[in-house]
Amino acid sequence: MKAVCCVCEADVTVPEDCCEGELVICPDCGTELEVVSLEPLTLEEAPQVQEDWGE
Ligand SMILES: [Zn+2]
Repeated sequence: MKAVCCVCEADVTVPEDCCEGELVICPDCGTELEVVSLEPLTLEEAPQVQEDWGE
């Protein structure tokens, strides 16, 4: 499946069996994108929360 990066509008390939909430990386701009909808396939920029998982 293909979706459009919401940041740079490049084509992003999404696995056929992906589900909502899955993360994909845009090959063009490197942004982490979250699958927010499957019908239609929609990507949004994933929140940067890595630092929140620490102690
Ligand atoms: Zn992009």
